[in-house]
Amino acid sequence: MRVVEHFLSLQGEGLKIGRLTYFVRTAGCNLRCSWCDTAFSQAYDQGEEMSIPDILALIGDVENVCLTGGEPLEQADAPELLSELVKAGKTVVLETNGSKDLSAVPKSGNIIISMDIKCPSSGMQDRMFLPNLTLLSKKDQLKFVIADRADLDYAERFIREHPVDTNIIFSAVGGLDIRSLAEEVVSKKLDVMVLPQLHKIIWGNKQGV
Ligand code: SF4
Repeated sequence: MRVVEHFLSLQGEGLKIGRLTYFVRTAGCNLRCSWCDTAFSQAYDQGEEMSIPDILALIGDVENVCLTGGEPLEQADAPELLSELVKAGKTVVLETNGSKDLSAVPKSGNIIISMDIKCPSSGMQDRMFLPNLTLLSKKDQLKFVIADRADLDYAERFIREHPVDTNIIFSAVGGLDIRSLAEEVVSKKLDVMVLPQLHKIIWGNKQGV
């Protein structure tokens, strides 16, 4: 597996927000979102090649792990790593961009799938692999990054047209300025979670946190 960076921090997003988490960020992404905040992870040839035992040794006794990217499912051994992490007693958040078939992801209550649905501002909204929606459950999360009114309308329509029994998370592009998004969600009475990106509040927009 090609790894760009790995570090211990707090989970900045989603259902596990604020929890001590070991992050493993893989190299390479098949999408090019216009507002990507981890562009350093897009190329496939950077970082270092690491074996699954190497990664398990890094994580040590940390209970929560986040496998992120780039797009982790571009790594052939990602499903095997997920299985080994679960066997080792970890709870794993798999952050995936919504374009990759999730059927190879091991079925486990200890793997939280955090799947994006890309909105129009990303330029990637036509790249989603929608059969994945049937694989999500209450332990998982469907994440929309909202940049503007068009994105909000798109997300609202998407949820209506694709009812999924999972957690729906809205965050603002950039992760910090969520007031106008929050006010829109309240005025529309949308039953979603509006969350910031906690790591950016704490440490700013930088790598390794
Ligand atoms: S899917 Fe994620 S890593 Fe890939 S381009 Fe979009 S924001 Fe960046």
